[in-house]
Formats: sequence, C-alpha cells, structure tokens
Amino acid sequence: MRLILLGPPGSGKGTQAKLLCGRQGLAHISTGDILREARQQGTPAGKKAEAFMNAGQLVPDEVVNDIIADRFRRDDRPAKFVLDGYPRTLPQAAALDAVLRQQFLDLTAVVSLTVDDQDLVDRVAWRRVCPKCQRPYHEKNNPPQHPGLCDDDGAKLVQRADDNEETVRKRLQVYHAQTAELVPHYRRPGLLREVPGTGDIEAIYQKILAALGVK
Ligand code: AMP
Repeated sequence: MRLILLGPPGSGKGTQAKLLCGRQGLAHISTGDILREARQQGTPAGKKAEAFMNAGQLVPDEVVNDIIADRFRRDDRPAKFVLDGYPRTLPQAAALDAVLRQQFLDLTAVVSLTVDDQDLVDRVAWRRVCPKCQRPYHEKNNPPQHPGLCDDDGAKLVQRADDNEETVRKRLQVYHAQTAELVPHYRRPGLLREVPGTGDIEAIYQKILAALGVK
C-alpha cells in the first residue's frame, strides 16, 4: 500500500498514519515531524523552516520537495508508505508525481479526512504531544492515564508551538487556500477516498480500511 493522507490540521492524519503504519507495516513519512526534528537539530532546512512553522505558514515548496526526493532516492527508500502532511500544494504534488514515477512507484490511494473547522480549532487547542515518541493526546477526549505524562514512555507532554488558537486559524486558512486544491488533483485519476474524520480513533481507522477495500 502506498498512501497519501490529506486533511486539515487536527483532522487526525498523524494518529491514523501511525495506526496504518503499525498495523499494515507501512513506513510513516511525515514532513511535519521531519521539519520539527530538523528545527530542533538546527540543520539548514530546520533553520529555513522555523519562522514559517511558527507563523502557521507553509515552508517553501523546494525545502519539503528536497526532503521527500532525498527520502525516496536513498538506498533504504520505502516500498510501502503513508505520506502524512505532504504534499500540501499543487507544485508539491507535481514534484511527488515525478519522484514516484522515477522510482516506478504507483500510489494506491489518497485518503482525505474531513472535519468541520470549529471542531478542528477545538481539537488542536487541546492537543498535547509526547516530545519523545510523538504520540498525540487530547486533554479532554483522549487524555493520558497520568495527567501530563505519556502512557508509553512517561515523558512530559508538551503543546506544539503552532497549536495555539490564532496559529491554528491561520493554518486552516492556508489549508483551504492551498491544500484543498489537491482534492481535484487526486479525484481526477480516481485515487481520492473521502472519509469523515469524526468519531473515535478506532472507528475512523475502520472507515479508512473500508474505503481502501482492506478487510
Ligand atoms: P504538520 O505537523 O503536518 O501539521 O506540519 C506542521 C508545520 O510544518 C506546517 O504548519 C508547516 O509550517 C510545516 N510543513 C509540514 N509539511 C509541510 C509541507 N508539505 N509543505 C509546507 N510546509 C509544511
């Protein structure tokens, strides 16, 4: 399976990508995670990305396109994967099409998670994440067993710098202005599967499997 997960910030892309990877044996490629790590390590890509990320804007296409091209040209390139948070613009989609063609890899499907904007703002404002394993929590709907600590490794949960209400609204605007254009791009070749991203995590996962025709 070779999938793209599309969806606005807070739609559950990261959570569902992790489930798909763990249970279906796919590689998880998240440009957000890669950029956050690069920012933390102070690499050239991380330094270029930082101001855009903090402002809730998209990092320039060439920065993320280089990251993805690099990932697919390495010897350990994945044959089965979930792309989470990439592509986000039409030029990124064109760059990805070219990289996959070059590697003789076809996409299986593009899963688009749909959620209302107001729900998204609420979800993201309550989102906390483990800085060690990236596991996400929601303080009200999906809290950890011990307040503020990751169930898996006990690390102290943090709030992402771009998860405040103002930045989330900006990220949603960016999503509607740029990323939503990808829906027709992938609908045309018949790759798009729209799945409502509401309900509990397992129920959404099952809807994704059903949309992919996986038992
Ligand atoms: P995410 O974790 O996917 O919500 O991404 C967090 C932030 O990283 C975004 O708000 C952007 O600033 C940046 N980012 C991640 N992926 C991309 C991408 N494909 N294109 C541009 N910017 C990105």
